[in-house]
Formats: sequence, C-alpha cells, structure tokens
Amino acid sequence: MSMTITPIKISDSEWEVMRVIWTQKATTAQEIIAILGQTMDWKPATIKTLLGRLVKKEAVRTEQAGKKYIYYPAISEGETVKSATENLFSHICAKRIGEAIAELVSEAELTAADVALIQEQLLNKQTVEKIECNCIPGQCECKHHQ
Ligand SMILES: [Zn+2]
Repeated sequence: MSMTITPIKISDSEWEVMRVIWTQKATTAQEIIAILGQTMDWKPATIKTLLGRLVKKEAVRTEQAGKKYIYYPAISEGETVKSATENLFSHICAKRIGEAIAELVSEAELTAADVALIQEQLLNKQTVEKIECNCIPGQCECKHHQ
C-alpha cells in the first residue's frame, strides 16, 4: 500500500476518526458511527462531517461499492504521529526540546520494555556541542541571555 508522506494537519476529532480507519483498514461511515457514536457521544452528522473533511484533506480515500462508500486510510498512522510530534517541537525553542522530551518521559506511563527502548535510543544518540536558539526575537527569552 502506498502512503503519502506529505504532512497533513488533522484536528483532535478527525484524529479519533482516523484511528478507527487505521484500525479497520477499510470501513464504512456506518461502522465508524457504530464505533464512535457511543464512546464519543457524537451524532452521525458530526462523524460524516469529519469524514468529509478527511477526504478533502486527502487523509482518507473513498470508493463506492454499490450503495455504500468504503473509506481507506491515505496516510499512515506512523507518519501522522511523527508529523504531529515535529509540529509540537516546531512550537518550542530548539534549546528547550531536551527539557520537553524529559518532561514527556516523566509524565508518560511506560512499561519496562518502553523504558528499555528509550534507553537504547539514548545510548545511540549523537549529541551536539551547542544548540542555537531558532526563535523569533520577542517569542523567546533565551535571546536576551546569549
Ligand atoms: Zn529560543
């Protein structure tokens, strides 16, 4: 299956719909409504609106099968998570990303296997001497202290 790697910005609500489509791989609006209708307390019209937006954003592709439309993911979950993480880090001063990652690790619920994976990543991580602030002056305090 070919997946586009163009970053597509999806809202929190759209993300819930994407998770169903990623899990089901091929699904109908009815199935998504059955899965999210109760848990999220969303009306069918809301879910259909979200699906329409995802099709428009090309996050989802659709094919007609008789009277029904089948929805397929057009973007991968891994790439979407990666681009959301990159987007989050783009809002933080480059000098504070390490702090933010440490905070994420300290807040997250992790298994021993997760911790082992993170430790392995840290052991292999290439470090740099110094990180330059990449902020717009006035959006960050570190420029004043340099
Ligand atoms: Zn900065």
